[in-house]
Amino acid sequence: MTLDHNAGLRDADPLVAHLIDRELGRQRHGLELIASENFASRAVIDAMGTPLTNKYAEGYPGRRYYGGCEVIDEIEQLAIDRLKQIFGAEHANVQPHSGAQANFAAFMAVIPPGEKIMGMSLPHGGHLSHGAAVNHSGVIWKAVHYGVDPSTGRIDHDAVRDQALRERPRLIIAGGSAYARIIDFAAFRSIADEVGAIFLVDMAHFAGLVAGGVHPSPVPHAPIVTSTTHKTLRGPRAGLILSVAEHAKAIDKSVFPGTQGGPLEHVIAAKAVAFGEALTDNFKAYSKRIVENAKALAASLIERGFAIVSGGTDTHLMLVDLRPKNLTGKAAEKTLDQAGITVNKNTIPDDPQSPFVTSGIRLGTPALTTRGMGTAEMGRVAELIDRALTRPDEATLARVRAEVGDLSSAFPLYQPKSAAGRVRRSA
Ligand SMILES: *Cc1c(COP(=O)(O)O)cnc(C)c1O
Repeated sequence: MTLDHNAGLRDADPLVAHLIDRELGRQRHGLELIASENFASRAVIDAMGTPLTNKYAEGYPGRRYYGGCEVIDEIEQLAIDRLKQIFGAEHANVQPHSGAQANFAAFMAVIPPGEKIMGMSLPHGGHLSHGAAVNHSGVIWKAVHYGVDPSTGRIDHDAVRDQALRERPRLIIAGGSAYARIIDFAAFRSIADEVGAIFLVDMAHFAGLVAGGVHPSPVPHAPIVTSTTHKTLRGPRAGLILSVAEHAKAIDKSVFPGTQGGPLEHVIAAKAVAFGEALTDNFKAYSKRIVENAKALAASLIERGFAIVSGGTDTHLMLVDLRPKNLTGKAAEKTLDQAGITVNKNTIPDDPQSPFVTSGIRLGTPALTTRGMGTAEMGRVAELIDRALTRPDEATLARVRAEVGDLSSAFPLYQPKSAAGRVRRSA
């Protein structure tokens, strides 16, 4: 460890540099199927690792509490303008540090503490920050939850309407972390209007699909839309809020000074880069391939005797019900990890197992699609998953792991053109 202020990471702190190398190696050599993960571009990562981290910029472009913000203002305004252009939004706030922070700030902007909110239940595919008991949102607001119809695995909008009429929430939230189907935003909006609730869509998972034009946009239906920026949108790890002009002031105040201090301007610069990427035709093609790959992976798994909740997917993700294979999510996650395939265990609707064990795994295609894989590779991935889970003995897992290594090295990650021979990355 040296205190030379000009030394690069490798010289200054070889231990941290080595750990980062190890994590990069893990990302390079495995198959990343976690639906909420992706590989941000080199340009996005470059923007994050810059001296912009040094700057305090509390406030908003043109109205800061610190001097020296003239360049920062241009950067943040660029991120805002690009974001508004992607989604056709009237107002955009790019300062939320994460998706959960975006939700908290957005809820606080429009719903006083103690009032009732209604979102999708966590075990049915919702998100912690939508009023789960263990999250502060479930303490600050009275939260009620809707689920999916157990026979179809889909949201039953008539049941949501009945529940909303009974409960009379002040805020209705649509969007989740493990729901594979397109949500009927117009139906939700009319329910919200009927009960006098504000409608908010959390598009954390599918924002990139909306940006790429392969998923309906919630923006025309919901006066407030929150998101992460690091899932299908493929930016840095962070959040954002879109709204109609009417809520602009309240949302800005709620983010700062309401819930956060200084914005992470290095991350906001990286958001500007990612939003620029999302405006390209390449990104449109990328998001189309994400969905094609998810459909192909789901179909291949079904062929191999796996059950998929709701029978398939409209998006980038699917929920695999492992009960027909007599496996738990916990066991499957561990076995696949040993084979170099990264997934997460996930509850299925009305799961007989506890959330620590679960009967399902959630799979998503954004990361593998970024590496350049297509529908042919999805068939291979399904086969590798099936082989590992069917015979999880040491020899089989070692063989699958070797094949995972071959497949991933055919689609290099963060390697310059010359080293890779040709660039397989789609966008
Ligand atoms: C991922 C996710 C979030 C939270 O994002 P973080 O950046 O992890 O805080 C919020 N809502 C939904 C629906 C998500 O899927």
